[in-house]
Amino acid sequence: MKREEYIKQLKSSEEIWDFIVIGGGATGLGIAVDAASRGYKTVLLEQSDFAKATSSRSTKLVHGGVRYLQNGDVGLVVEALRERGYLSKNAPHLVKNQRFIIGNYLWWEKPFYTIGLTMYDILAGRMGLGHSLPMRKKDVIKSIPQIEQQNLKGGVVYHDGQFDDSRLAVNLAQTAVENGATVVNYVRVSKLLKNAGGQVSGVFAEDLLDGGSFTLNGQCIINATGIFVDDIIKMDNAEERPLVRPSQGVHLVVDKSFLGGDDAIMVPKTSDGRVMFGVPWHNRVILGTTDTPVKNFVLEPKALDEEVNFILETAGRYLTKKPQRKDVLCVFAGLRPLAAPKKIADETKTKEISRSHKLLASGSGLITITGGKWTTYRFMAEETVDLALKTKELPFKPCRTKTLKIHGYKEKPDRSKWSYIYGSDQEKILQLQKSNPSFAGNLHDGFEFTVGEVVWAVREEMARTVDDVLARRVRALFLDARASVIMAPKVAAIMAKELQKDKNWEEQQVRKYTEMAKAYILS
Ligand SMILES: Cc1cc2nc3c(=O)[nH]c(=O)nc-3n(C[C@H](O)[C@H](O)[C@H](O)COP(=O)(O)OP(=O)(O)OC[C@H]3O[C@@H](n4cnc5c(N)ncnc54)[C@H](O)[C@@H]3O)c2cc1C
Repeated sequence: MKREEYIKQLKSSEEIWDFIVIGGGATGLGIAVDAASRGYKTVLLEQSDFAKATSSRSTKLVHGGVRYLQNGDVGLVVEALRERGYLSKNAPHLVKNQRFIIGNYLWWEKPFYTIGLTMYDILAGRMGLGHSLPMRKKDVIKSIPQIEQQNLKGGVVYHDGQFDDSRLAVNLAQTAVENGATVVNYVRVSKLLKNAGGQVSGVFAEDLLDGGSFTLNGQCIINATGIFVDDIIKMDNAEERPLVRPSQGVHLVVDKSFLGGDDAIMVPKTSDGRVMFGVPWHNRVILGTTDTPVKNFVLEPKALDEEVNFILETAGRYLTKKPQRKDVLCVFAGLRPLAAPKKIADETKTKEISRSHKLLASGSGLITITGGKWTTYRFMAEETVDLALKTKELPFKPCRTKTLKIHGYKEKPDRSKWSYIYGSDQEKILQLQKSNPSFAGNLHDGFEFTVGEVVWAVREEMARTVDDVLARRVRALFLDARASVIMAPKVAAIMAKELQKDKNWEEQQVRKYTEMAKAYILS
């Protein structure tokens, strides 16, 4: 993951790439891994950092989607459960088996959810993570000590996957590189090139960190830019109808004591007819989410007050320790790249739009993929590469990702320390810390993150800004936004030394980060 070296090569590159992938979120990174591991010459360009947009702002579930089963979307659930199984096997350092408990307050809920979740287990088949079972009231309380006990009759427990989204994105970038791909962040595609026959034949790209621009020629050009796919589609054909309707989802992060145990809570029907989760994550609990149609296509979406209030109210109804605004350690918003149907019944409700992905080939050969879920990124990538090969009539090589181990692969990691998240790299980071006593120091008294991890993130994981480190390499921004602002000057100083930047750069980085982090702090 040597950005400067790769950029130098790209700027002077005259080769014809088999695959040029635009976008470094879950979808684009999955495609780069798929294409490179099949043996195709692949490059991926990301305009910001890997997973900067939607892919670092998920609920962090690797799931079939109990809600989609409620909606009768069985095909989508089966696909996602199968992918959940592959991902749990290929990235065991990042995906863990999580117990979810549905508290029952009405007599019919226990049999109803037991039957529904048994169906969920049956659909998972051999890939199942554990059996769904009814629970007695006292066992529910033992599992979630803070659950609202008034009128509680019992519960149902089921299993799903839980993961760290931006860490998986970084590991996918590394996996792509290990399979021969070139992957760079902070490079924006601002034009598509076409050949004499009107077919898309390359891209014009700008280096947003060090300046300069370059063109790349390729056979398959893949538009995997999430909510931004319409910008690229417009570069291909200005007349094309918009494909994406963004829907905002907000999460609140609070202390783990609000659940009181290691199990997650699932509310199957909130007052607006959605599901809501309270999921333990790195010693915190993530509460969410919402589903609000929005019109702004931005990298830093902002939570609306009504979304925050809705989550606090709903959580307060199901927990005895009721979270207040002052308890919120971080609020983050993400935009779902939902593929818009031609017409939906109610323009104000994006929860009715299917979460399945949309894959298209334009007349000029541009391949666009959007929608879907983190859980299904691998399958989406396989289908995209297959379609691109067919469209361009390239020699077909079969997909290898069903069993391809993702960088960091480590079975049964000891999750008692934050650094388990690095999987097989954990040991290397420990060695790095031993090589220089200053690397072992912490970034903040209340957190395990070390100086060595910042050095590692710069040297091995292509982190180039304070935001890259604090938001997506270590997850400080998401775990405690205020504390992360305190860490920023130290991180900037370490990075400046590693990247040979001056004091000006350091100060500018801290200013930028502090400004950005304000949106993650509830006042
Ligand atoms: C609130 C919320 C909760 C969710 N929870 C879950 C969950 O628990 N489990 C699950 O499976 N899924 C979940 N999802 C869905 C999942 O997060 C998304 O489906 C997935 O992250 C989308 O990835 P993507 O790569 O398509 O988009 P993105 O992550 O947005 O990536 C697109 C990338 O393209 C880049 N880009 C744009 N334009 C250009 C350009 N011109 N040049 C270069 N790069 C460009 C952007 O910077 C961006 O990084 C959730 C989504 C939301 C919003």
